[in-house]
Amino acid sequence: MTERSESDREADVSVGDMGPEHFRRHAHEVADWMADYLATVGDLPVFPDLEPGAIRDLLPEEPPDEGEPMDRVLADFRDVVVPGLTHWNHPRFFGYFAITASGPGILGEMLTAALNVNAMVWRSSPAATELEELTTDWLRQLLGLPPEFDGVINDTASSSTLYALAAARDVAWPDAHERGLFGCAPGRVYASDQAHSSVEKAVLTLGLGRSGFGAIRSDGEFRMDPDALAEAIRGDIEAGVRPVAIVATLGTTSSASMDPVAEIVQVASEFGVWLHVDAAYGGAAAIVPELAPLFDGWRGADSIVVNPHKWLFTPIDCSVLYCRRPADLVGAFSIVPEYLKSSEQASARSLMDYGVSLGRRFRALKLWFVLRHFGRGGLVAAIREHVRLARVLAGWVEQADDWALVAPVHLATIAVRFGPGWAPDAEDRANRRIIERVNRSGEAFLTHTVLAGRTVIRVSIGNLKTTHADVARVWASLRRAADIVRAEGETP
Ligand code: PLP
Repeated sequence: MTERSESDREADVSVGDMGPEHFRRHAHEVADWMADYLATVGDLPVFPDLEPGAIRDLLPEEPPDEGEPMDRVLADFRDVVVPGLTHWNHPRFFGYFAITASGPGILGEMLTAALNVNAMVWRSSPAATELEELTTDWLRQLLGLPPEFDGVINDTASSSTLYALAAARDVAWPDAHERGLFGCAPGRVYASDQAHSSVEKAVLTLGLGRSGFGAIRSDGEFRMDPDALAEAIRGDIEAGVRPVAIVATLGTTSSASMDPVAEIVQVASEFGVWLHVDAAYGGAAAIVPELAPLFDGWRGADSIVVNPHKWLFTPIDCSVLYCRRPADLVGAFSIVPEYLKSSEQASARSLMDYGVSLGRRFRALKLWFVLRHFGRGGLVAAIREHVRLARVLAGWVEQADDWALVAPVHLATIAVRFGPGWAPDAEDRANRRIIERVNRSGEAFLTHTVLAGRTVIRVSIGNLKTTHADVARVWASLRRAADIVRAEGETP
């Protein structure tokens, strides 16, 4: 990003948008910057080790009165913003769920911004609607789901789950759509005690109240216990509580455990309850033939969410909601005001009918680019490699004194714990201190969770740049941090 003449700067701030030649030059600079960033991000600290407020302190509190030259804006981006980031696209980002904004995904996202189309209804951008139908159907085929599953793209799994549960609510109370839930008997949505908080948030948003969420106990492998589920539903029906939906998780947030969906489907059908499967993280693994058995039974669900922005190399945001009862989804949300009516509305899909938001970004473009660039073979190879790396790391953990695997390894996120034999509280503190040390070193980024009442360290592998060497490096960092923590003793 080079120094520029005064006249160049003036051209940047003239009335109207940035001129085409200026745009071209800055776009080339930005493209070069992105290519360099992607090639060298692994040399940056993953986590910036700053105190809250550090970035605000470096930037003016008031907006500029006059437009600023783009060079200055880009310089601040490079010198202030980038050093203040936790780099999710870094090969040693192992926190939350590790993800990748892949090259083709980034190109798709850039073009989406340039086009700026809004896929509310078919005519507001026909290709955006039709590409969303096509890409979600391609992904359905890759996942091995039957054609009855109709896909739409939302921003996040939180929205997808909310929309699925809204449809389930209207099915459970056929007049709720007209009258609301006032005067209705209480209802409940069931999910395991390992389910993501988005399920409980959806329950709250849908007006079922906190007591409308029923946490079902999980077993020693953090999988929902189907007998406990059936017992809870039976007890609720006897007590006059209406079962609204069951949410099973394939790839839980804390330990990537897989609920026994085949058995849960039986419970759902016994009681006639909507089954939603949260495969936001795990779903992508269904593309890999040897992992497909982990998804046994999910074809029997009413709705499924899979997030390409988690483990399918698509930049945030991109969440696909599949529904085998799309009419119920549309029934829950469709309101067509006069100004959005069109002659083709009976024959073409109106994406605005599938959720709360009217405006819809053209998210299908980046997913289409990703699916075409990698193809089935490329996706299978990448996911398979992540799972292999997770197993390699799990093997090292199992062989190490004082370290233990806390949950079975099915996918590419593992839960581990350092346990020098101290009192439980002291060990919990030790695990948190280890994470803090590793993160502050900038070598790798990790996050924690609590499983069976104990603090554990999660290591999630999901970046396309992550290699065996990166995994070896985080394991070395963990052991080094543990040695220091052990030497410091039990007190913080
Ligand atoms: N479901 C599971 C299992 C998750 O782990 C997460 C987030 O990590 C979500 C849902 C929510 O995803 P989103 O951020 O797309 O709303």
